[in-house]
Amino acid sequence: MPKLTLPISPWEGFSPTHTELHHDTLTIHLTPTGPGRCRCGQVVRQIHDITPRTIQEREAFGYQTLLSVPLRRLRCPDCGVVTERLSWLEPHARQTNRLIQYVERLLKLMPIKHVNEMTGLHWHTLKRLDRRRLAREV
Ligand SMILES: [Zn+2]
Repeated sequence: MPKLTLPISPWEGFSPTHTELHHDTLTIHLTPTGPGRCRCGQVVRQIHDITPRTIQEREAFGYQTLLSVPLRRLRCPDCGVVTERLSWLEPHARQTNRLIQYVERLLKLMPIKHVNEMTGLHWHTLKRLDRRRLAREV
């Protein structure tokens, strides 16, 4: 069967290996496609350790979508041990930048209660994102 390829790379530096479906939640497992990049911009091949992290992604095909991402801590010759820098995930974030941007648009249009129903994101998470959005816009 021909392999499906997309004209976009939704998770730069990573590619999906397999998916799991439990009830209405789709979990996409990702694996790195090359060495990581430090926050200073350097490509770093030395890996300190790897920690799997679960990240919420935007809905895909009507399913709540989670990513299972093996995040690397790198041993940068200049910065020491640092978590790799990704274009689609802020340090310590539990949601992709794509999901956060979508939620911020929804928060402008409707009450938090409705955004909670639409996205399944926790009330406290939405409050925090909304405060951050408002602070940025002031
Ligand atoms: Zn560095």
